[in-house]
Amino acid sequence: MLSGRVHGSEGGVYRILLDSGEEVSASLRGRLKREARTGDKVVVGDEVAVLIDPDGSTTIEAVRPRLTQVVRGGPGGRRPKVVAANVERLVIVGAVVRPELRQTLLDRLLVVGEANGLEPVVVLNKMDLWEGPPPLAGLYRRLGYRVIPTSAKDGTGLDSLKDLLCSGISAMVGPSGAGKSSLLNAIQPGLSLRIGDLSEKQGRGRHTTVSGRLIPLDCGGLVADTPGFSEAGIWGVERRELERCFPEFAPLRDGCRFRGCTHLHEPGCRVGEAFQAGEIDPDRFESYRVLHKEAERG
Ligand code: GDP
Ligand code: ZN
Repeated sequence: MLSGRVHGSEGGVYRILLDSGEEVSASLRGRLKREARTGDKVVVGDEVAVLIDPDGSTTIEAVRPRLTQVVRGGPGGRRPKVVAANVERLVIVGAVVRPELRQTLLDRLLVVGEANGLEPVVVLNKMDLWEGPPPLAGLYRRLGYRVIPTSAKDGTGLDSLKDLLCSGISAMVGPSGAGKSSLLNAIQPGLSLRIGDLSEKQGRGRHTTVSGRLIPLDCGGLVADTPGFSEAGIWGVERRELERCFPEFAPLRDGCRFRGCTHLHEPGCRVGEAFQAGEIDPDRFESYRVLHKEAERG
């Protein structure tokens, strides 16, 4: 049995990079196939054990336990779906200008990271078009998030971003046009991603095969390019888990009078008091309100 990692998947065929450096295509052993039908399928990022038959057929025999999994809840109660495994950080890319930086979207993606147990990092790109400190950087840093201002054009911040991406598996998300493909191309010349090549365009409006891939960087890191990563919903996050996705609530929420306080209207709510006192950023609280409405009951 050989071990390796799933680097790509499309229509039931898995591209696997073996530990030896060799790349093979494999299908799933029958038992795993049945599990795939019940939703727990093999996904990009999975570490797998592979058997190469003398007849040349290659099958995935086993999947190692996952450190993390990115789960996308289907709209309208569709069964949640694992879209990537073993991703350790979510690199959220926004442009400081063009497309307009929308805090609600960044907050939404921060929640996706928190809910899935990934380390969120905020990248503010296109700094070459901006004078002065980047917008929102102060806010997010105060919340404890790492913020990296970058420019794919003039090279600002690329060393820091590269350091980050060179270990483990990262997923890059953010609105189309923010510069995700450009940043990767700048970090690794020769990668030649088409500008605007990353994830969203592939995923949007298409309901056919969900495929995904890992982009290997020469320095050793892997970047997950998974369609649908940036789609609007908040992916099966339940209402009661939402509060722990807002780090600024952490020191307050035990002070609320009621257990299960939603922090939206209850008397004796410590979070609400802090908001009234101006200790919580009003736009963050608004994001919480919006996402709470959207999140699944349960
Ligand atoms: P993606 O959709 O997030 O992958 O974004 P792209 O990498 O396709 O970039 C979208 C557009 O923004 C392209 O026209 C890029 O040339 C441009 N762009 C990307 N990064 C920068 C940057 O740092 N500065 C400037 N001025 N333009 C950028
Ligand atoms: Zn409360």
